[in-house]
Amino acid sequence: MKKRIVSIFTNDTDISLKNRDVLMKKLIDRGYETSDEYSADTELIICIGGDGALIRTVHSCNFPQCPIIGINTGHLGFFQEISPDNLDAFISDYEKGEYSIQSLSTVKAAVVTEDGVRDSHLGLNEILIKGRHSYSIHLGISIGNTPIERFSGDGILVATPAGSTAYNYSLGGSIVDPRLKLLQVTPIAPMNTTAYRSFTSSILLPAELSLSVTPESSDDIIFIVNDGMETGYSGVIKIEVTISDTHVQLMRFKNYDFWNKVKTKFL
Ligand code: NAP
Ligand code: MN
Repeated sequence: MKKRIVSIFTNDTDISLKNRDVLMKKLIDRGYETSDEYSADTELIICIGGDGALIRTVHSCNFPQCPIIGINTGHLGFFQEISPDNLDAFISDYEKGEYSIQSLSTVKAAVVTEDGVRDSHLGLNEILIKGRHSYSIHLGISIGNTPIERFSGDGILVATPAGSTAYNYSLGGSIVDPRLKLLQVTPIAPMNTTAYRSFTSSILLPAELSLSVTPESSDDIIFIVNDGMETGYSGVIKIEVTISDTHVQLMRFKNYDFWNKVKTKFL
């Protein structure tokens, strides 16, 4: 009979490690094999921790195609679906197929530099483009092929719908239902003076349009921060930000409601 492999990842809090041990025992008793690595044979990834732990699991598994379920031992948990009190119900619903898959879109930044570097970065929450230390940056911004503005300020953040409740929200961006396919571009401390003009509110882009960012001076060091992981570049010619074809398949159970999570976290 084919092995049923479940890969389990956790953050390192005591409560997460304790729940991992309990869960592993339950799964092994039911005939599953557990692993602390992700492979092509993994049928389900379980992440125990908070939203940050889920993001790190998604990156460490290189945006896996199999479903992923979060067990919440952190704060509210937008990504995290299961409470540690409900492990038995979770296993039983999983075996009965009583779940749905929430396919979350991701955001991609493709960067090109004068030295011929061509990198790309994926974010489940967001891609942030910012300067070095506390310097302001000046960026030419185009939407599709239309130059829109010369942005001056701390940077810009491009959030997915799933990431709209994270950093984007702290910056005054809007909460977006993950069923919508769009990117939200939120300015970070935009300057608005007689010298500089930048949008001061978020703008929303449909899936088919990309955002192009060209630093005014290629001497500037630009940081691309995807889900909190930063990479610095010098000599940047262009950064193109788009919705990626890669999706994250989050498992949800019958009581899942995005707006209930929003209410519980913010109101
Ligand atoms: P962190 O600095 O430890 O946590 C930032 C907070 O954001 C945590 O409370 C985290 O929840 C929460 N969070 C993460 N994704 C979320 C989402 N999609 N919706 C609502 N809340 C969310 O960093 P981290 O835990 O590694 O998470 C990385 C994220 O932190 C980045 O992607 C960015 O969005 C966010 N961030 C926010 C700010 C800000 O609001 N000023 C600044 C920097 C980064 P848990 O406690 O459950 O982990
Ligand atoms: Mn965290």
